Amino acid sequence: MKGKSKRVLSAVLVVLLIAVTIIIPTRYNNVNASISQTSISKVVKKTGTKAPKYIFLFIGDGMSYPQIQATSYYLGTTESKGGVKTQALSFMNFPIAGSAQTFDSTSFCPDSASTATSISTGHKTYSGTINMDTTFTTSYETIAEKLKKQLGYKVGVVSSVNMNHATPAAFYAHQASRNNYYEIGLEMISSNFDYFAGGELLKPTGNNKDKTSLYELAKKEGYQVATTQAAAANLSAGSKSIVVSEKLADSGSMSYEIDAASDEWHLSDYVEKGIEVLNNKKGFFMMVEGGKIDWACHANDAASTIHDTAAFSDAVDVAIEFYNEHPEETLILVTGDHETGGLTIGFAGTNYDTYLTNLENQKISYAKYDSQYVANYKKNATNFTAVLADIEKYFGLVAKNKATSSTNKNLILTEYEYNKLYDAYQMTLKQTKELDENEYVLYGTYEPLTVTITHILNNKSGIDFTSYSHTGLPVPVFAIGNGAELFEGYYDNTDIYKSVAKLTKVK
Ligand SMILES: [Zn+2]
Repeated sequence: MKGKSKRVLSAVLVVLLIAVTIIIPTRYNNVNASISQTSISKVVKKTGTKAPKYIFLFIGDGMSYPQIQATSYYLGTTESKGGVKTQALSFMNFPIAGSAQTFDSTSFCPDSASTATSISTGHKTYSGTINMDTTFTTSYETIAEKLKKQLGYKVGVVSSVNMNHATPAAFYAHQASRNNYYEIGLEMISSNFDYFAGGELLKPTGNNKDKTSLYELAKKEGYQVATTQAAAANLSAGSKSIVVSEKLADSGSMSYEIDAASDEWHLSDYVEKGIEVLNNKKGFFMMVEGGKIDWACHANDAASTIHDTAAFSDAVDVAIEFYNEHPEETLILVTGDHETGGLTIGFAGTNYDTYLTNLENQKISYAKYDSQYVANYKKNATNFTAVLADIEKYFGLVAKNKATSSTNKNLILTEYEYNKLYDAYQMTLKQTKELDENEYVLYGTYEPLTVTITHILNNKSGIDFTSYSHTGLPVPVFAIGNGAELFEGYYDNTDIYKSVAKLTKVK
């Protein structure tokens, strides 16, 4: 199942389903990922008494309203060839939507460690801290640990970034610092959770590479470790499994959706496998993180953000298919941990206009462009004309002297933009580590050339970012299924934990 082709397929499926419905009027009516309003209202009325047996918690890292809405607008406008059309992401059709504020103990612009701690345990803590109080003396038990211990649920933790990164760690680890990757890995193994999947483990043999490999320790504890898609596909239901993405990208994470090969597993495939491994009579809890939405937003790469948000929506689709088969026993929550980048729809230079279809011309993530192209430019001091040819090929931006009568005028570089690119390329070639104030605002800690390319393409599309860090925007919380109504309103991120605990009656 491929994210992008899956969306095209769903359009075909809708047509097919209409035909098939006439012949098979059974549960297959609901197989398509978009759920009908009738089935939603029927379920909502029945909730509130029994604990949901199957709980999905989807967290888009760095995903707030702007990321969701930009993706919805992008999908709608590209499908209608530039029209003002929206296309709802899977979870935008859920009957319940709330908002959660995300501040932590010391910051209105928190990080993933503290915000995931709030979602997972109901407590505020420092940015950088995972499931411990601000004196680093008390550990908080997580909702996943409680559900496993008290109700016998199986637990899955899936992430498109490293499995011992902050957000997944917040469901099984307790550490003063999110950077204690080896110790977090040890806690991952001792959690005895049932299914882990995503990018590779960071520091699997410790900071000094002198410790026993976390993968070896996991095997000793009875985990099957799959490092290829074929091995992952063969994992049987009920096995204790760790699945490492076969194709690893920046920092050992899964590929950005925009870079993913057609036969590569997407986040949705890991969720599908997770359901197979976890499904059992007592129930399960699965946390799924779209971790690279955050990474793309830090780098101010709007196109990669949008593609990863769409892949995240596809992963939620898989849970919706499960919900359609177990509507009275399932709860699906979809939220973000904080916003990243201060993304917005609208740019000072384009006033009330947007040209989101421009972003279709970006064919590669900033990270892949850096590693596969910019690294060579720096090594060979490639001339700017050759660099411009690559920029046109991978980002669609065209130098004025290369434009023809058929060139999209929105994509021709103005003199102002051309000069910005030229200056950024000089900075990239200089490889300076010390940036002055102006340079930092222009480039952050990113490759000056690449971040300038995405800034120009974003702005020409009517999109802008205000930051290379996290911001203080609230995040939406979408809910469907058993107990969904508890997630309505404007509340604190710690209330997400409290509502799940209340529903499941864990202490
Ligand atoms: Zn971040």
